[in-house]
Formats: sequence, structure tokens, C-alpha cells
Amino acid sequence: MTTALTGKAAEHYQQFMEGLARRNPGEHEYHQAVGEVAQTIIPFVFDKPIYQDAQILERLTEPDRIIIFRVAWEDDNGNVRVNRGYRIQHSNAIGPYKGGLRFHKDVTLSTFKFLAFEQTFKNSLTSLPMGSAKGGADFNPKGKSDREAMRFCQAFMTELSRHIGHQTDVPAGDIGVGAREVSYMFGQHKRLSNEFTGVLTGKGLAFGGSLIRTEATGYGAVYMLQDMLKHAGQDVEGKTACVSGSGNVAQYAAEKFTQLGGKVLTMSDSGGFILDPDGIDAERLAYVQELKNVKRARISEYVKQYPNASYHEGQRPWSVPCDVALPCATQNEISEDEAQKLLDNGCMAVSEGANMPTVPEGINKFIGAKILYAPSKAANAGGVAVSGLEMTQNSMRLSWTRDELDQRLREIMSGIHAQCVEHGTDGDHVNYLNGANIAGFIKVADAMLAYGVL
Ligand code: NDP
Repeated sequence: MTTALTGKAAEHYQQFMEGLARRNPGEHEYHQAVGEVAQTIIPFVFDKPIYQDAQILERLTEPDRIIIFRVAWEDDNGNVRVNRGYRIQHSNAIGPYKGGLRFHKDVTLSTFKFLAFEQTFKNSLTSLPMGSAKGGADFNPKGKSDREAMRFCQAFMTELSRHIGHQTDVPAGDIGVGAREVSYMFGQHKRLSNEFTGVLTGKGLAFGGSLIRTEATGYGAVYMLQDMLKHAGQDVEGKTACVSGSGNVAQYAAEKFTQLGGKVLTMSDSGGFILDPDGIDAERLAYVQELKNVKRARISEYVKQYPNASYHEGQRPWSVPCDVALPCATQNEISEDEAQKLLDNGCMAVSEGANMPTVPEGINKFIGAKILYAPSKAANAGGVAVSGLEMTQNSMRLSWTRDELDQRLREIMSGIHAQCVEHGTDGDHVNYLNGANIAGFIKVADAMLAYGVL
């Protein structure tokens, strides 16, 4: 990993990253996520022997526990299929393990380790008592019938249920795991344990789910953007945005951006992106939601309904001029060149709905240009925050109203913004990446110091 650090900090960083790469060979996404945090934390702890001597960063880059298991199930034709399941229980220093499940054909151990590591800082930033985890499987939900998804989810949960619990580890959804999958998994856990507890979040409203959870990640990313703009004396009103993805996070980021008076120009999926110069307003977004959530169809269908829009196969939206970028699809979806293109076209703010969507060289471009850049661990923490509120409601056996929850989400995102400003202000500029890393680190590190050597 290259670094902008100099002197002793750079030396320490190189040694640290070499050790990490040696112990975790070939896990490039994990190296990338740790490298990004280490660039902030190594100089931060340099004159703080209390953290250095306790080897906090070294301990935080070794997950508490890694669970890998076989998932065997039968497809609709009676064929036996085999997938690999994962759960990385990264840290329970500040609360039960907490983080989503991803079902995607390309996932590896590295994917889950990077996500679980990032989750540690994100959950800490929410100020709620949640540790960190992530998991899932290399199961491809695309094209599977409801029955196939059900059989897979039941087989997956049969093993995972041994390792989770409402005080131990509370999973949720992520890419490829939406309301359907969470429901099947919750049902299977309930059957196996003979207990109705809040062991998963993102549940249906009829069985312990929380209002606003579906919207929370996308709304939160836009609330973070709104706070950054306000801090810089600006507003969402009248701004244009490029959104990537058309799943859960993208849909609600687009909705909130539009509600606040902005215009969404693009959305995408893994096939390509659509550009609608008229703006993807509430009515058009409802059509996207029907396409993606009900018909499980491709975003390319959009142009049949709205012929003024264009479809760009195999491309990402970052060459379209916009004021704001909201990457909401997947990791490493903004390359260095695409980051430069966004800057060249006048983009002034990026709020990351997806996890680690910008490559490190792209992040350096954004930070070098001093635009408003909210890293995913801060910008997309709204989802897990409302999951935390779902856990609270389950424990209290009551449900808060939509307005109450939206208000709490709004306050949590403002709290995250304030922590970034407190720890990331450098002269007249806020480095939100440094701010998020340091604020997230301090809380977990202080808990670890209190426990002694574990
Ligand atoms: P969904 O499965 O609902 O949607 C994912 C979207 O991203 C789809 O449009 C999908 O397209 C696209 N996508 C997935 N993989 C790729 C790829 N390799 N290249 C291009 N496009 C891709 O997932 P979510 O909206 O829940 O998650 C999106 C991001 O947000 C992820 O990074 C996730 O970790 C992060 N996140 C989600 C949270 C949540 O609450 N859901 C919380 C915090 C972070 P296609 O349909 O073609 O696959």
C-alpha cells in the first residue's frame, strides 16, 4: 500500500501493512480497508503510548472469530447445490456483534473481513452499543425462485443459528439479502431456537421490524451530505446528483435527495446505468422500485418507460456532470480516473452509501481537492443505527412511530457529522475521513483498554 505519510509514521505504516499482508495473504480488499484506517490511526497514536503500548490497532485487525461453513440445499429441479457461508465476528468491545449478511456470487473471505473491520468504526460512530460483524455466502440470489431462496436461507440459518443470539450477534441484510431473505432466516431461527427474539434486524413490521429501517441507509447518506453542505454554507436544493445502484440504499438516497429539492440524474445496476436528464422524481423512482423490488428486472427497462432517458451498457455513471456523487452499489466502483472525472466536471461533494466504493487513489483525489467527502463508515451508518433502534424496540417490546424514528436517525447522523468535524478539522477544512476514523477508533480503543489484555 502506498502512503502519503512521511518519516517515522510512514516507516511504522509500511511495517504494519507488511505484517498484515503476510498474515492475510491475497486478501486485497481487507488490506485496502485496514490501510485506509491505518493511515489515520498510526500518526494519531504516535504520541499516545497508552494506545500504542496496548497494541490496539494490531488487536483490532485480528477478528475475534471467523466462522466458515458448508451450506447444502436443493434447487427446484432436485439438484443438490453447495455454497460457502461466512460470519466474521470482528469485535464485541462495545456491544453484541452486529452487521449485515451479503449473498453475492463473488464474495470471498476478504470481502467479509473488510466489511466487518469497517463495521467496527461505523457502529462506534453511531454512539449506540453495537460491536461489529459481517457475513453471508457466495450464493447468487439472481434468478432463484422464492422456494429456492427459502431453502437456501433455511440451510444457511441452520448452521449460523449456533453462533448468533440477541445478546451475542445480531445479523441484518446487505447486498442480495432483503426483506424476503431476512424473513426466511428469522423464521428458521425461531423454529430452531423455539424463541421469538430480536436476533435479526430488518425484519417485517408484522414480526418485530422497525419503521424507517428500509429507508435508513439511503436517507442517512443524504442527511450526512446535507450536514456537510450546511457546514460549508450550502444546501441540497437545486443540486444535481449521480446515484449508482438501484437497490435498497440507492432507492432511498435518491428519494431523500429529491425530497430535499435536488435532482437525481442517474441510477445503475451491474449491467449499466440510466441517465434521465428530466430527473428521477418520485413517480419515476416508484417505477424503478417496481422494476427492481417486484419484477426483479434490470435497470435497462427504464428507458422503455421514459424514452427521454438513455441506457449506457457496461458503464458506470461517473462521467455524467453533477454537483454531488452518491455511490450506492458496491465496493471499488469509483476508480482513480472516475474520481478525477467527477472533479473535472465540478463535483463538490461525495457521500458514500455503499461500503468502500472509492479506490484509495480516488479518495486521495477527493481529499487533495478538498471537496466534501464523507467516507462510507460515516455516511452509511444510518442503516445500522436504525437496526440498533430495532434492537432497542424489540427489547422494550414496543414500536416507535415513523416520525420518532426519522428524528432519531436525523440526530444520529448529525452526531456523526459533529464527531467528524471535531476530530477531522484541519485549518478551515474538514477531513471527514480522518475525523470518522479517529472518532470511531477512540470509543472502541478505550473499551479495550478498560478490559485489559484480551
Ligand atoms: P441491494 O442488493 O439492494 O442493491 C445492490 C445494488 O448494487 C444493485 O443495484 C446491484 O445491481 C448493484 N451492484 C451489486 N454488485 C455490483 C457490482 N459488482 N457492480 C455494479 N453494481 C453492483 O444492496 P444494498 O442497496 O443493500 O447495498 C448497496 C451497498 O450499500 C453495499 O455496498 C452495502 O454493503 C452497502 N450498505 C447497505 C446497507 C443496508 O442497509 N442495506 C447498510 C450499509 C451499507 P444488480 O441488481 O445488477 O446486482
